[in-house]
Amino acid sequence: MLTKTKIYLSSPHMGGSEQSFVNEAFETNWVAPLGPNVDGFEAAIQTYLGENKQVAVLSSGTAAIHLALQLLGVGVGDEVLCQSFTFSASANPIRYQGATPVFIDSELDTWNMSPELLEEAIKHRIAHYKKPKAIVAVHLYGMPYKANAINAIAKKYSIPVVEDSAEALGSRYFGKPCGTLSDMGILSFNGNKIITTSGGGALICDSVALKNKAVFLATQARDQAAHYEHSHIGFNYRMSNVLAGIGRGQMEVLDARVAARRQNFEFYKKHLSKYHSISFLEEPEGFYANRWITCISTASYDMREQLRLALLEDDIESRPLWKPMHMQPVFTDCMYFTNGTSEALFEKGLCLPSGSNLNQDDLDRILNIILKTLNS
Ligand SMILES: *Cc1c(COP(=O)(O)O)cnc(C)c1O
Repeated sequence: MLTKTKIYLSSPHMGGSEQSFVNEAFETNWVAPLGPNVDGFEAAIQTYLGENKQVAVLSSGTAAIHLALQLLGVGVGDEVLCQSFTFSASANPIRYQGATPVFIDSELDTWNMSPELLEEAIKHRIAHYKKPKAIVAVHLYGMPYKANAINAIAKKYSIPVVEDSAEALGSRYFGKPCGTLSDMGILSFNGNKIITTSGGGALICDSVALKNKAVFLATQARDQAAHYEHSHIGFNYRMSNVLAGIGRGQMEVLDARVAARRQNFEFYKKHLSKYHSISFLEEPEGFYANRWITCISTASYDMREQLRLALLEDDIESRPLWKPMHMQPVFTDCMYFTNGTSEALFEKGLCLPSGSNLNQDDLDRILNIILKTLNS
């Protein structure tokens, strides 16, 4: 009997040398949250990103956002402007700091933070004597946000920007890598991301001093002393040297992973764009998306569900687009500035299987189900 295997939305894809870096950690007994793989992984990311950035690898992307907010001085009672159309991990760390998120809707041409709504929100909050302390902007699904416009507004009002690049390693904006475009960037190496360390993240910043401060806070904030002396509240957020070994191996294949994901996008687009009920997010001039996930927008909620359930029937994973944060029960008490974009995308949008390890048979199997559903 022919048994079909499950097709995942986005699954880990090892390159080959991860295991030897991990073995090296065992052989040299660097089974600790420091060591040659941690240093080597940071160096590889720094070289990849360039732009004179400093990188600290951490236990998760969420931890990186939390540290960024901590370093920017976000505290109890502060307000932080955050993209509404995102994964909850962009917003949760705002709450960890005792601050309040204020959600900003997206624009249609990038699905990311609307510069117009951002400025409207800033003006509104300043008029109410609540100048926002920071902005969390997101390159969702690997599509860059309009960094020039967002940064210009942020600069005009002197508000720092945290660049959530968790889904956008390998994406570029007018040639510059995502993660290096605003004041502080973050990456994620969770199992579903474009490269993975099973779980992990990174903070990207402008100076060695800031990186050292991040590492200090991420390693329990131990002051200089023979005993344990503490003048700050610390976190246990550093990346394991074992997992950093996976990261070193993954950096060797990052460009190939981006190319494969972009090919998935081209495949879906080639076969589906003739259907007027299906639309794709195109790259604006100067934007280069890693196409972490290929997303489609359909004609209606019913059509989206038909597609999703037909795929599920064949053991193929797909998923509605992110549910906006301003619609989430946990954030119902938060203020938001909306224009209908993210709500419509959530209603009609679908994430298609997008792993770099999908083969042609997988892609054909997915496409056949979609075509059968569209033509029925
Ligand atoms: C994955 C993700 C995060 C969190 O990263 P983790 O490493 O899973 O903690 C944050 N923001 C966005 C947009 C993400 O997709």
